[in-house]
Amino acid sequence: MPELPEVEVTRASLADRLAGARVQAVRLGKPLRWPLGVAPASLVGRRVGWLQRRGKYLWMPLGEADAGDEAATGGLLLHLGMSGSLNLADDPGGAGAHDHFDLATSRGVLRLTDPRRFGAVVWSDSLQADPAAKLLARLGAEPFDPAMTPLRFHAALHARRTSVKAALLAGDIVVGAGNIYASEALHRAGIDPRTRCDKLSRPRAERLLAALRLTLARAIELGGSTLRDFRDAHGVSGAFQHEALVYGREGQACARCGGTVRRIVQGQRASYFCAGCQRR
Ligand SMILES: [Zn+2]
Repeated sequence: MPELPEVEVTRASLADRLAGARVQAVRLGKPLRWPLGVAPASLVGRRVGWLQRRGKYLWMPLGEADAGDEAATGGLLLHLGMSGSLNLADDPGGAGAHDHFDLATSRGVLRLTDPRRFGAVVWSDSLQADPAAKLLARLGAEPFDPAMTPLRFHAALHARRTSVKAALLAGDIVVGAGNIYASEALHRAGIDPRTRCDKLSRPRAERLLAALRLTLARAIELGGSTLRDFRDAHGVSGAFQHEALVYGREGQACARCGGTVRRIVQGQRASYFCAGCQRR
């Protein structure tokens, strides 16, 4: 599943190439998770603004042909779902069975390929209007938002009685901690994934936030530097997994303490950790 680093790498690879492009045509394939919500023909002639990311959503402002402020005139909210990927090509060829959205522009054709079709491309009049506002409302803070201070992170965790791993995966305190990144951040911070949120001390919460930021930054850096194209939405996590210290390494030696990496299941998700250096 594409995680936040994949989406951010996708955004970074497309933003400057698409900014200022004119929409020439829109092609829809099979239905995605939600309908487009606007007549495809009404997008033709619009100008693409700067691609933004919120959580795992991308926001593409689409301005009226000659309007100055494209952000004020709506845009498309895109989500890669379970298996989606976006690719921009001058001539992508005919649409295949899994290509469900093409935005033909003056800078090439942006194509969403999504075999499982949990992805989405949805029109919204603005980020503050529905459906965008509704879809984004439940998201936690961006991991790199300086407004998410260690104090605030600790306070948010302190109000919960779930495991710290479950709170990270829920994404309603901070977004971006998918299973692999949550597991690695907890290892880096020396915290057992089963630790209850309300038992986590302030210094440990602070270490966890810093560890999560380092982990995600490394994944984004790795994705940006190792992927030649972004067709493979699993590429970032795949590349990152080669560097993982606990995720997917059940039975192997912990690189830090030499203990054995264990696998447990929490909330139907696998957790990998080292009982030697990750404490409750
Ligand atoms: Zn260890």
